[in-house]
Amino acid sequence: MAMTHPTDPDAGADVLAELLVHVGRSARGEDAEGSPLTAAQWTALRFFARANRRSRTPSAFASFQATTRGTASQTLKTLEARGLLERRKSDTDRRSVLFEPTEEGRALLRRDPLRHLMAALDTLSPGDRAALARLLPDLAAHLAGARGSPAIGTCANCNHYEARGENAYCACVGASLAPFEIGQLCASFTPQDTKAGPAGDASA
Ligand code: SF4
Repeated sequence: MAMTHPTDPDAGADVLAELLVHVGRSARGEDAEGSPLTAAQWTALRFFARANRRSRTPSAFASFQATTRGTASQTLKTLEARGLLERRKSDTDRRSVLFEPTEEGRALLRRDPLRHLMAALDTLSPGDRAALARLLPDLAAHLAGARGSPAIGTCANCNHYEARGENAYCACVGASLAPFEIGQLCASFTPQDTKAGPAGDASA
């Protein structure tokens, strides 16, 4: 019979917070010797591969990375110069610039240091993964609220999301959502129990 480990229902918030940070630090490993990118560059490459169309902007990335526009721009310039990101004009606002990973950028993501954490998550039971999928966005939203920074999340936990029959609808942009967009990161995300809009406009 498989051995089950005891759980500690009384684990303090301090211990859980430290464990979360430890998992994050050890999973990233971007600064290990031989890594082709810095931690900030990996974060940027991942963000632009996983954000929805309207959120692939420098300001949305700056919010996600909790950094300044200037620092974020510097990271994007470096990735662009290395041929890993490419810029294009927004279809809806010609003054806005959007970034997309190039083929080379997507190829590099297959060597993402986070792949070890992804593999570890794949070993969890469906119930445990569902619990994490429910809890982590809540934690991220609480943290963003406490810091006064915009939350970034996906449609499943967003106040603007509406299921209309077979279709998914975003009340923020007033448009239907394609199935593939529902799991993408969004800078206009508003946590479900929040009545106000996003804490900042990161969509330009
Ligand atoms: S429903 Fe929310 S997360 Fe989804 S696209 Fe709209 S604002 Fe973004």
